[in-house]
Amino acid sequence: MITTELSNIGNIIQTQREFFQTGKTKEVTFRIEQLKNLKQAIIEHEQSIVEALQADLRKPEVETYLTEISVIKDIDYAIKHLQNWTKPQKAAVSWDFFSYSARIYPEPLGVVLIIGPWNYPFNLIISPLIGAIAAGNCAIIKPSEIASHTSDIIAKIIAKNFDPAYLAVIEGGVEASQKLLAEKFDHIFFTGGTAVGKIIMAAAAKYLTPVTLELGGKSPCIVDTDINLEHTVRRITWGKFINAGQTCIAPDYLLVNKTIKKDLIDGLEKSLKEFYGENPVNSPDYARIISQKHFDRLVSFLKDGEVIIGGENQPSERYIAPTLIDNVSLEDSVMQEEIFGPILPIIEYTDIAEAIALINSRPKPLALYLFSQDKNLQKQVLQETSSGGVCINDTVMQVGVSSLPFGGVGDSGIGNYHGKASFDTFSHKKSVLQNSFWLDLKWRYAPYQGKLPLIKKLLG
Ligand code: NAD
Repeated sequence: MITTELSNIGNIIQTQREFFQTGKTKEVTFRIEQLKNLKQAIIEHEQSIVEALQADLRKPEVETYLTEISVIKDIDYAIKHLQNWTKPQKAAVSWDFFSYSARIYPEPLGVVLIIGPWNYPFNLIISPLIGAIAAGNCAIIKPSEIASHTSDIIAKIIAKNFDPAYLAVIEGGVEASQKLLAEKFDHIFFTGGTAVGKIIMAAAAKYLTPVTLELGGKSPCIVDTDINLEHTVRRITWGKFINAGQTCIAPDYLLVNKTIKKDLIDGLEKSLKEFYGENPVNSPDYARIISQKHFDRLVSFLKDGEVIIGGENQPSERYIAPTLIDNVSLEDSVMQEEIFGPILPIIEYTDIAEAIALINSRPKPLALYLFSQDKNLQKQVLQETSSGGVCINDTVMQVGVSSLPFGGVGDSGIGNYHGKASFDTFSHKKSVLQNSFWLDLKWRYAPYQGKLPLIKKLLG
């Protein structure tokens, strides 16, 4: 394990500040070279990454490629667009500024801190890191200690391929985080739970450090009657039970039109069998719960409502079967906390207004899913609810579209990233106004006597 001494954190940051001051990271060619290095390093370590995720989450290899190693696509996207993103943008000026020109220069922030969670422990470190590199920053990276094997492989990849004066990994848990948060950074990018997000923001406030907080919450999934049932159940099953439900944008609970509820439950049962067989414990395609603590928390939800599918669990394996719960009350803990596991409560509604009212009575979610072909219903849900993002007639796939900024709103987060949004998150937009010397009208200079009518006209 490559662990950088926690006591050395101040020195590492200082070294990065000195390196940043050299201006090297501002060169676009340098940034592209580093992105290419990162891609190459990931490709070289593919097998170790797969093994680390197997060890941490028993993540199936296909899921590791689909949701973790797939970040190399984000690297390609950044490399392809970087020249364009870094160009100063011309800004329009009004007629009374006729002798001026205006431009917006994106400039790197400096030394940034990236703190990651355990559920997509590779992707959720590398993806923001791509933005930090593309925007020309130095970075300190703190992966989650709970996915310890993945943390180790990230530390190894970075130490082997990058100078710590540019990119450095600090491994460890809360203590490491706290030591880092005691230092001044130019930006903190945090992915994790809402409670810890508040701690991060409080620590950042001390230095007025800007933050991006990618948090969680309970993402609802509305199912109307105007759907293709077969496609709907497959897409819900996949989005909910991939990574054993430990996905920040997994559908947390279903809000189902009463008239289609039975068909939906039958369909979900069928698709679960199609995906994971008669007994999912034997499926190589079904992940495990990250830790005993998280397992115990999830098992406690099984006493809420009525388990209609699944419910089996094995502590020794940290296995919980894909589970559907009916007849839950909104006061049950399964409906109060983010579930973050393979348990799906079902709540029925008669009128869409009830579903919308329930969503709006709770903190704004990270994602909202709607299955319906009804254009008016789509419009109503989009207009009357607020969430980090929305995906209609599918689940989770919105994270894969580089042109869509990804992030929360309200309790589900602050700021966003992916594609150009990642570059923007790690850049300062410097506004530059330039005048010329060919003319110098005196209307704004003292003495002011007699100038007010003209000024009023200009304001008019
Ligand atoms: P977490 O908040 O417990 O931990 C995240 C990181 O914060 C870890 O690196 C951890 O070491 C550090 N940390 C924990 N306690 C800390 C403290 N007291 N002070 C400073 N640092 C601390 O989150 P997690 O359990 O790793 O991840 C699960 C949560 O993350 C869920 O709520 C999920 O919805 C959310 N999440 C959000 C996204 C997103 O993109 N919005 C993605 C993945 C996970």
